[in-house]
Amino acid sequence: MIKEIITKAQSDLILDASEIAELFKITLFSEESALIQAAARKIAEQACQGRAEVHAQIGLNIAPCPNNCKFCSFAACNGVFSEAVELSALEVISRTQQFEQDGADAIFIMATADYAFSKFLDMSRQIKQALKSETILIANVGDFSLDQAKQLKDVGYTGIYHALRLGEGRDTQISPEKRLATINTAHQAGLSVGTCLEPVGPEHTVEELVEKTMVTRDITPAYSGAARRIPIPNTDLAQKGICSEARMAHILAVVRLALPVSIPGNCTHEPSIIGAAAGACLLWAEAGSNPRDTQENTEEKRGMTVQECRRVLEEAEWKVLDGPSRFYTDLAPQNEEKVYV
Ligand code: SF4
Repeated sequence: MIKEIITKAQSDLILDASEIAELFKITLFSEESALIQAAARKIAEQACQGRAEVHAQIGLNIAPCPNNCKFCSFAACNGVFSEAVELSALEVISRTQQFEQDGADAIFIMATADYAFSKFLDMSRQIKQALKSETILIANVGDFSLDQAKQLKDVGYTGIYHALRLGEGRDTQISPEKRLATINTAHQAGLSVGTCLEPVGPEHTVEELVEKTMVTRDITPAYSGAARRIPIPNTDLAQKGICSEARMAHILAVVRLALPVSIPGNCTHEPSIIGAAAGACLLWAEAGSNPRDTQENTEEKRGMTVQECRRVLEEAEWKVLDGPSRFYTDLAPQNEEKVYV
């Protein structure tokens, strides 16, 4: 049965919920698990035309965030950061130029949900001006309107990162409808959308993994993939533990099989060789603030550099793209103006 499902995915036929569930249920390190990962790797190579990518994200600010996503170190309820801290434009420009010099294929600008949108646009204009014209910029911000999506496009963003997260509306104070509406408006404004199955914890059921995997497919994203939840010390979710990198490799391989070959990218975070070997062809370097870190500047703790991410991919026998991201440009799937909600 598993071999039939894999063959179906290899033929680029759409898997249904029960088939995706069967793949998630497979025991790690079994023969079938190896077949799933081998097939995912092959499809990933085909989808990204043999070139993995490293994207790099800078977090502009730290602030106790009222949205209280329980897995996030900025959530006010988690009490990690009590004061607001913002990077200056000079600091941001210097770090994004470093990303550019290091060969990042795209640069993500992240801010917490309550960072003023006008300030984000202003900062973005300055960053855009300071970087090479061909550098791909991606926004990773809170939910926004269609008008704001158009403004993001106007200041030079090619796309956004946005996800309907596991536990959305339960472990967060944001409704699933709002998250999907933002993705919708981004597409309407002509922005590509990257997404993934996140933040995966050991307690998530197969049903929830399947449901959210199918949502990432419905989005028609530049990439999907899977990222694990990093425990924030002294929080309820930290008690539930962390998925191993080996389990994440299996999960991201299933996500790859569940999505059509027309979706070029498959990511994982945090970077791991075993995940890259199993079909993750997109990894992230990080600087500045990071919702998975308790350190103000994540490069001093959890964040990896572009070179470190490239090394992880190369250890997993990937060739890494030199130049602007193709996931967000020529390989990005075309999106009609879809309505999800
Ligand atoms: S994930 Fe975003 S919206 Fe949620 S608490 Fe963190 S910064 Fe706020």
